[in-house]
Amino acid sequence: NADLAMYWAKEMGRNNFQFFSEDMNHSILEHLALEKELKEAIQRNQFTLVFQPKVSLFDYSTTGVETLIRWEHPEKGLITPDHFIPVAEETGQIIDIGNWVLEQACRQISSLLREGILPPTAKVAVNLSAKQFTDPNLVQHIRTVLEITKIPPQCLELEITESTLMEDVETAIAIMQEIKSTGVAIAIDDFGTGYSSLSYIKRFPIDVLKVDRSFVMDIPDDKNDMAITAAVIAMAHKLSMNVVAEGVETREQLQFLRQNNCDEGQGYLFSRPLSLGQLHRFLIENKARRENGTYHI
Ligand code: C2E
Ligand code: MG
Ligand code: MG
Ligand code: MG
Repeated sequence: NADLAMYWAKEMGRNNFQFFSEDMNHSILEHLALEKELKEAIQRNQFTLVFQPKVSLFDYSTTGVETLIRWEHPEKGLITPDHFIPVAEETGQIIDIGNWVLEQACRQISSLLREGILPPTAKVAVNLSAKQFTDPNLVQHIRTVLEITKIPPQCLELEITESTLMEDVETAIAIMQEIKSTGVAIAIDDFGTGYSSLSYIKRFPIDVLKVDRSFVMDIPDDKNDMAITAAVIAMAHKLSMNVVAEGVETREQLQFLRQNNCDEGQGYLFSRPLSLGQLHRFLIENKARRENGTYHI
């Protein structure tokens, strides 16, 4: 099909001469197999969702969760999104998968919100890929999902990467404004890894900026990463955005982020991505520990 041909033309253009060999042939076949398996995965309900908590760096309360997709492959076991989202994006299957993720995430989280286990100020974040973002039916789909799952719009947040937004800036601004008109919040994901110009950042209606894990990873050893992280936090605050640090794994990173007024953190230090049941327990335990003063990281 045309999409695939485009994909491979691009891939081959990117690759050096020496990689243009049997290997390539092999990956074309693998790609085709994956496309077919993805189609079955949707039909056979092989996708599941996990939720990773985001916590306030001021009081360690849970401010929300990020929804992350997993594929329970019948033979290959659990497959992480990096291995199939790019293919689904190229083939267009991401539209169906993405719509499923949005609806399922809202459905699953709505019970936690109703029971008050997640506070009404908490947000469920869902990742949007580039193709979903420019899908003309996106906003209608968002409205429909909010309606059927009865999630208040302010409890939903969409994460969009910097590179998606930079593909066509004027269109991106228009789509973002349309999303904002539904009451849903927008986060810019993996910030610092794309090539956005600061003059555009100020024009985007962004609520949350997520500092990419690659900047957090080497704190406190890399002075440059620390300088960049501190500057990005300060800039985001001046632009009235909330800042979330991705991939927080150590106490040293936490301490640095707190010293620099980063609002929220997400990472293995606080919690791995959790199933809905595990999330339920995490939220109850986290609240109890904070209330009886035994909370410590
Ligand atoms: P992302 O949106 O930047 O998500 C954060 C990724 O970092 C997740 O990987 C998460 O498991 C991982 N992570 C969180 N904390 C830590 C940490 O402390 N250390 C390390 N090393 N990693 C951490 P995951 O789940 O494999 O997802 C990878 C990417 O796949 C996501 O990056 C996102 O771009 C994409 N993705 C995931 N779910 C979806 C989805 O439903 N739709 C779309 N379009 N993309 C998705
Ligand atoms: Mg994300
Ligand atoms: Mg991210
Ligand atoms: Mg990332």
